[in-house]
Amino acid sequence: MARIKFFTFGCKANQYDTQVFIELFSRFGYKYSEYEYDIAFINTCCVTKKAEKEVKKFIKRMIASRKDVWITGCLVEKDNLSILFPEARIFPRQALYKQAKSVDIIGISRFQGHTRAFVKIVDGCENFCSYCIVPYVRGKISSRPIVDIITEIKMLVENSYKEIVLTGIDLGAFGKDTGESIGDLIKEINSIAGLHRFRLSSIEVFYITDEILGILGECNKFCPSFHIPLQSGSDRILKLMKRPYSFNDYRARLEKIRDFFNEVTITTDVMVGFPGETESDFEKTIEAISECRFLKVHVFPFSQHKETQSASLPGKISECIKKERVRKIIHVADIISKEMKKEFIGRRCSVLIEDKLENFWLGYSQHYIPVLIDSSENINGYVVDVVPEKIIEKENVVYLLARSILP
Ligand code: SF4
Repeated sequence: MARIKFFTFGCKANQYDTQVFIELFSRFGYKYSEYEYDIAFINTCCVTKKAEKEVKKFIKRMIASRKDVWITGCLVEKDNLSILFPEARIFPRQALYKQAKSVDIIGISRFQGHTRAFVKIVDGCENFCSYCIVPYVRGKISSRPIVDIITEIKMLVENSYKEIVLTGIDLGAFGKDTGESIGDLIKEINSIAGLHRFRLSSIEVFYITDEILGILGECNKFCPSFHIPLQSGSDRILKLMKRPYSFNDYRARLEKIRDFFNEVTITTDVMVGFPGETESDFEKTIEAISECRFLKVHVFPFSQHKETQSASLPGKISECIKKERVRKIIHVADIISKEMKKEFIGRRCSVLIEDKLENFWLGYSQHYIPVLIDSSENINGYVVDVVPEKIIEKENVVYLLARSILP
C-alpha cells in the first residue's frame, strides 16, 4: 500500500482542503504516514512572492529526494506546473473535490495535529482588492449547504473536537450564491450538543452588520474575538487597494462591536509599502493601530503580483523602506498587545488546553489570548476556567499566567 504524507502551505482554507484530501486518499487505500512515505502530496500557496518561492523550492527538494510528488492548491491554478515540474502529478483542487463528492465525502471528521478544527463554509472571493491574487486562483463565491456544514461539525464533535473555527476566503460572503444566511448557520451551530465553542476566522468589516452582531450576541458558544483586516489607516491607500470602506467606517464598526460585547478582542492585518504609500499614509496606519487597540496585528509587506491591478500602479516602495515600516508597526503593535492582555488579569477566562510549554499547560482563552496554566492535573484537550494573575513573557510571546483552575 502506497504511503503518503501531506504538506500544506498557506491559509486556513488550504489547511481545511488538505484534511478533505487526507480523507479522500485514505478512502482510496493510501496510507497516511508521517515519517516514511513514498508520495509527497503538496497543497500549495501563492499569496505572496515569498510564499510562492518557498513552495517551489520545497517541490524541487521533494523531487530531488526521489519522492513521488503530487501537487494541488493555489499555485496549480496560477502557473502551469506541469511545464515547471514535469516529474510531478498535478491535481486541480476542484477535480479533487469532485472526486470527494463522488465517494460521498461531504466534510471532514478529523483535523490532524490540531485541538480545534477549521471548517471551511465558503470558498472563493469576488472582491478583487487591487493587490490580491486570491480571486484569480480561488474563483467565484461558492458556499456549502448549511446541512452539510452542520453534519460535518457534528462528526467533529463526536470525534472530541471542542472548538470549531468557521473559515472562508471571504467568510462574510457566505450564502451570496445560495440564498442561505450566515445568521441561520451560526444559530444552528450554537445549538449543536457537545460543541463547547466556535469562533469566526477573518471577516471583512463590511459584513459585520448590527443583525450579525445581534445573532452572535445571543450565542453562548461564540468566542468574542474578531479578526478584521484593516490593511491601511490611510483612506487614499484604501481606495487604491480597492477596499470598500474608509478608516472612519472601520473605526465606527469597531466601536459598535465593543459596545455590543462586554469583553471582546480584535486582531487585524495590515499591509505596508503599497505602491504610492507616503510617510504620511504610513503614519496614519500607525495612528490607526494606536486608536483601534488591536490584540494582535499581522503585518505584511506589499508583494507584487503581475496579474493584479496594483502591478501597474506607480510609486513602488523599496524593500528597505518596507522592512523599516514592518519593524515600526510590530514595535507599536506589541506595546498595545501587551497592554490589552494585561486588562485580562483578574478576569475569568475559559481556556481550551492544546499543548505544553515547559511545565505549563498552554491554551487559548475565548478572547484568543494565549494562557499558561501551572497545574499538575492532566487537562490536555479540556476547556478549563481560570483567573490569570499576571502576564509572563517567553520567547517574545506574552502569555497570561494562571496558577489554579476554577471548579
Ligand atoms: S477580500 Fe480582498 S484581500 Fe481578501 S481574498 Fe478577497 S480580494 Fe483578497
